[in-house]
Amino acid sequence: MGPTEAQLARVALEAAAVLVAALLVVAALKAASEGLRRRRAGAWVVVVGAGPVGLSAALAALRSGKARGLALVEARPRAALLARPQQVALQPRSLRFLRRLGLDVDNLEGCWEQERFFTRLGVFQEHLLSLLERHRRRLPLRICLGTKFSEDFLKKNLSSNWPNIVIIADGSCGESSTILGISPEYTVESCNAYGANAAIERPDQRQVPTPEIRAHGLYFDLSAYGMDMSNMRKGSSTPGFHLKIYGTFRNRYLALACPASDSKVVRFLRHTLNSTIMKNIFHQSFNAYKMDIEPRVNELTLHRIQCSHRLFEIMLSHRRVTAALLERDNVVVTIEGEAARVLNFDTGCGVNLGLRGLESTEELIYKVATAIDQHDIFEALAAKIQHSKQVAEDFKQNGLFAAMFE
Ligand SMILES: Cc1cc2nc3c(=O)[nH]c(=O)nc-3n(C[C@H](O)[C@H](O)[C@H](O)COP(=O)(O)OP(=O)(O)OC[C@H]3O[C@@H](n4cnc5c(N)ncnc54)[C@H](O)[C@@H]3O)c2cc1C
Repeated sequence: MGPTEAQLARVALEAAAVLVAALLVVAALKAASEGLRRRRAGAWVVVVGAGPVGLSAALAALRSGKARGLALVEARPRAALLARPQQVALQPRSLRFLRRLGLDVDNLEGCWEQERFFTRLGVFQEHLLSLLERHRRRLPLRICLGTKFSEDFLKKNLSSNWPNIVIIADGSCGESSTILGISPEYTVESCNAYGANAAIERPDQRQVPTPEIRAHGLYFDLSAYGMDMSNMRKGSSTPGFHLKIYGTFRNRYLALACPASDSKVVRFLRHTLNSTIMKNIFHQSFNAYKMDIEPRVNELTLHRIQCSHRLFEIMLSHRRVTAALLERDNVVVTIEGEAARVLNFDTGCGVNLGLRGLESTEELIYKVATAIDQHDIFEALAAKIQHSKQVAEDFKQNGLFAAMFE
């Protein structure tokens, strides 16, 4: 007598259960081996430039947990690098990002105002460099100060095994990406605003971090220069100017900006050939809004003001290619900081724009380090490029507003 239908059904059920169990075991094994592969995956990272962005990028690479080794190359020697006097204002978002990388603001020379932290570029860089140096025992780390980036450096510091990542943060005048054959083309876009900058150098003043000063709705009487001001009063439809005074007492910077318009004053200041007008505007604005404890600019010190001769259109230039795969060398390159995007107008917040781009660095390194094939690499690059475009777009929409107009 053959098996009954019920017996056949039970055997089929048992076979199916065994099959499912086997498939589950295979899937679990696959997942475990994929997990192991990902855990073990790592990339060699080279960072070019030890400015604020390059140093932060190096720390982000270490934080990704996927750097097998890291080399940082910087053209300036240590002393020159850490003596940079410019003041930087770190905004809350930058501070959150930097704290995750280990920044200890409480142990940094500087001052706070309205959730922003003001410090000196050199002090900030020294702190980041010391954080980086702490990792020396954990993984191969080469910090080459006073060394210019070259193809030779790259060959010596990259692994012969895939993957390798180069982060270029060599500033607005850097040429490292050109050395690697990356297109130097930029997209230049208007920020729909006009501006002018001034700097006052006073060697007798202190080089200490100082909160910035902002003033809004400024109007200038230009009748002394032949302009008819009769219809131009506060409260008229003509937008006023925004002024920011920042930097240390020794290196004072001023930024003047207004939304793009075709008003009489704006047209006049955009096209005037008389450079003393702008100088007088900065002179008077500085004296009106400076801190009480700092000296006024007077006839004797007027020559210390260096400024734009007229209002110019504020433009953001950003690289067309911000991330690429160099197939011949098997290297993924990403460009960051002022090497990737730069304004023709100093807002005093340049470092923050650079740090914004680094927010996708850990993800890029993780994705590249764990990539299985070129498809994964291109996906990682596409995400990085998208983020880079977003940073430029966000700046065009809100950046000047946040840095100057509010
Ligand atoms: C006068 C002045 C005042 C400023 N004031 C302010 C301010 O108040 N607030 C603010 O936020 N920002 C300010 N900035 C802007 C700020 O300094 C920049 O936004 C910031 O430094 C950009 O950082 P980065 O790391 O992208 O580039 P950088 O700081 O320019 O760093 C690039 C580094 O790469 C190195 N390098 C270049 N080429 C090579 C190479 N081939 N090999 C190896 N290394 C290389 C350079 O030596 C440099 O150290 C000011 C700038 C200036 C000039």
